[in-house]
Amino acid sequence: MWYGFRVKVLPRTKFGNPILRAKAEKVPLSELKTKYFKNLIERMFYTMKQAHGIGLAAPQISKSIQLFVAQISPTKLRPNLKPLPKTIAINPKIIQQSKEMEEDWEGCLSCPTIRGKVPRHKKITVVYYDEFGEKQTVRLEGLQARLFQHEIDHLNGNVYVDRMKDMKSLMTLSEFEERILKKRKK
Ligand code: ZN
Repeated sequence: MWYGFRVKVLPRTKFGNPILRAKAEKVPLSELKTKYFKNLIERMFYTMKQAHGIGLAAPQISKSIQLFVAQISPTKLRPNLKPLPKTIAINPKIIQQSKEMEEDWEGCLSCPTIRGKVPRHKKITVVYYDEFGEKQTVRLEGLQARLFQHEIDHLNGNVYVDRMKDMKSLMTLSEFEERILKKRKK
């Protein structure tokens, strides 16, 4: 994707930064049309892609506002991933969640060198506003549901390690790539 010369990678906050532990402020929908906001979204996508992430929440780039961007594309190692088109979620809220939980691996651009197994609700329904201020209601499962739960956690001052049941699954990225990523088929 060509972004032109204007777009620059935003510096990312890392685990330990208090902004990742704060509850983010709601975004006034009147701000969505501003140049500032459009530029912010564009830079967040660019920053996420440069870091090979699938989601990035505003507190991760030092903005304590309720906004995240996300996009899932199938990869060579995971060709069967259900794609998620470019998504901009503003003031998102989980309004329904399945009792059934599912455990799977997660990482975070605020601590990119580790991975851990995190239980999440298998299915969720989320309400959010898109970049045009339109209200969206989506039912999600699998990785998409996991991703939304991870990002919404960021907006509430939580990170995925808070949700881990067993810290023994924590791995460095290189061990994860060697032991898990190469062997998974999903
Ligand atoms: Zn994260």
